[in-house]
Amino acid sequence: METFENVIEFHGHACPGLALGYRVAMRALKEFEIPAADEEIVALVENNSCAIDAVQVVTGCTFGKGNLIFHDYGKQVYTFIKRPSGKYLRISICWKKPAESENERLLWEKYMKGDRSESVVDFVHARKSSKIKHILTADERELMTVTTGTMKVPDPAIIRPSVVCSSCHEKVMDLKAMHKNGYRFCIPCFNEEELRKKRKKHAE
Ligand SMILES: [Zn+2]
Ligand SMILES: [Zn+2]
Repeated sequence: METFENVIEFHGHACPGLALGYRVAMRALKEFEIPAADEEIVALVENNSCAIDAVQVVTGCTFGKGNLIFHDYGKQVYTFIKRPSGKYLRISICWKKPAESENERLLWEKYMKGDRSESVVDFVHARKSSKIKHILTADERELMTVTTGTMKVPDPAIIRPSVVCSSCHEKVMDLKAMHKNGYRFCIPCFNEEELRKKRKKHAE
């Protein structure tokens, strides 16, 4: 089983977001037998914060394997789905950071404005460590709301042939190629072309 130290090593630093992700991942571990064989568990994450690195290290659900699905919703919600049953565990973070005093608020404000004097930096570090400690030791109910049930299993990772973009001549997965006037383009080239047309129209 991965420790928080292993997770820090992968992520590069310790932070409250990583600690939250670690608790989420450990909860998923408790529910399912993971890391399981390839693609047994799919993680559906609704943000791309530091927390996701902890999820990847601990559960083995990774972006590259295709069993980590990212929805850009900006929500601290994590759903783990077991294949093929569709049994899921949904975790929604409800943790509230400990209240801060007026003095702490002022120090934080200074830090945000770029003040890096020793007293300000020390405060920020201490505050960060205390948040991490709080998250790692808090009761589950203080951190998250957990629901379970059954849902449709997401499609497995697909492997598709490539085609060549008519503009940059680089390879692009056929499903991602954009079709225009009988040509096939990769998305960046297609977007560039559309932008150029818009600018031209604007200049006329
Ligand atoms: Zn971080
Ligand atoms: Zn291209």
